Amino acid sequence: MKEKPRFIMCNCTGECPGFKDMNFWKLLNFVRNELDSEYAVIHPQLCVDDGDRFLEEVLKPGVTYVIGGCDPRMQKKMFRDPFEKKGIDFDKQVLALDLRNMTTDEAMKKVKEAFEGLSQKT
Ligand code: SF4
Repeated sequence: MKEKPRFIMCNCTGECPGFKDMNFWKLLNFVRNELDSEYAVIHPQLCVDDGDRFLEEVLKPGVTYVIGGCDPRMQKKMFRDPFEKKGIDFDKQVLALDLRNMTTDEAMKKVKEAFEGLSQKT
């Protein structure tokens, strides 16, 4: 059976003005309870060393990841090492979403659409 996508939220330490209108817990609980996800987690800063270590520990080849955070091009650049080390093609297995400057409801809608788009592909 195909594994469900995982949702990983990255929130710039939680202090960034770009996420000031976001209730992260409401978003995560929505993803884990309402969407067809394996799980939802949050990390405060995936683009620094402990973020690399976290990704290297959890990433699994063959799994799709939806990552909420900053600009998808920035994500691709900053997460390159751990994805490469785990043999995961970022372009094929990651759906990077820019969730900055959104309210919680706007972010929920965008993440919901992303999961719905993935389920239509399978
Ligand atoms: S990866 Fe993007 S969203 Fe995450 S901490 Fe770095 S700049 Fe912020």
